[in-house]
Amino acid sequence: MIKFLDLQKINLAHQQEIEDRLIKTFRSGWYLLGEELKNFEANLANYIATSNAIGVANGLDALRLIFKAYITLGAMREGDEVIVPANTYIASVLAVSDNRLKPVLVEPDINTYNIDVSKIEAAITARTKAIMLVHLYGRVAWSGDLKRLAETYNLKIIEDNAQAIGASFMGVKAGNLGDAAGLSFYPGKNLGALGDAGAVTTNDDRLAAAIRALANYGSNQKYVNIYQGLNSRLDEIQAAVLDVKLKYVDEENAIRRTIASRYIREIKNPAIILPEAPLDSAEHVWHLFVVRAKERDRLQAYLSENGIQTLIHYPVPPHKQEAYSEWSDLSFPITEQIHEEVLSLPISPVVTRDEVNNVIAVINQYV
Ligand SMILES: *Cc1c(COP(=O)(O)O)cnc(C)c1O
Repeated sequence: MIKFLDLQKINLAHQQEIEDRLIKTFRSGWYLLGEELKNFEANLANYIATSNAIGVANGLDALRLIFKAYITLGAMREGDEVIVPANTYIASVLAVSDNRLKPVLVEPDINTYNIDVSKIEAAITARTKAIMLVHLYGRVAWSGDLKRLAETYNLKIIEDNAQAIGASFMGVKAGNLGDAAGLSFYPGKNLGALGDAGAVTTNDDRLAAAIRALANYGSNQKYVNIYQGLNSRLDEIQAAVLDVKLKYVDEENAIRRTIASRYIREIKNPAIILPEAPLDSAEHVWHLFVVRAKERDRLQAYLSENGIQTLIHYPVPPHKQEAYSEWSDLSFPITEQIHEEVLSLPISPVVTRDEVNNVIAVINQYV
């Protein structure tokens, strides 16, 4: 069987180095806010080229903390609106609503799956304070039009960079395009920990200081609490593992790009709609390789019968979730169509040439 994602194989590719660092951290007797975190934050900031990287407990917290910090610093307040793509993982929306800000959903572009920038302006009101920009499936959602729009209306751009570490737009990395970005190191992401982990990257030093404090009980100094914070720290064990794996993320993204371009070139089946590769290959790191098919469930069953495991990202959009029952009457036809048609094929640094050959051959025989 071709697994959708073989995490064991992905991590065993760095077995010796990871085990050495795990043992070192274990034996050090220091497990939070220590040297491993400091090192990883410095290396991550250097990689993204931001002046700050702050390790936190997970990707959702990274995004939540950005908004919480803006509120704490007085730049946003309860009831302010944030533009969020309707087509995203629910975490992007939760980060906004959890802070008592109002998510305003905007339809995606059917070709990129990212937010349709031409539809943002109509959603802006006097209370709009920010755009949550999601680089979905690993494809950068940035554009000159978006930047101009944000400047015209004085909006912050918060990047949900959970899926696009290593992608860049004209030489600037995702995570360094907007005002602040949240990264996720969930095990299945392009840079994955051995559990939950996340980070914020930003060039805004004041925002960074607030986030750092908020993530540690609102404290910069033990037992001195300047904000009503929370506990969202990236532990030493995860930081050590991530510091090892960060060195290989470009190499691993390059393998993903090779697999994606083979799928795009060699899958030839009119029943399958392939994703569009950006003209500049640097803009995509192929966290997911997502195709569309009218009878998606039948395609998934066929692939499964032929030994190919696939997943759906995502089966139900946020506005159709029970959690947001107040949105159940809203209609986002493009988002809904995408959710009915998408299927994610195996793609990762450990999917072999033979496996790619096999996926292509099986899909090309599908009728
Ligand atoms: C994974 C993910 C998150 C949340 O990250 P966690 O580390 O799982 O909390 C947020 N947004 C998107 C788009 C994601 O894919």
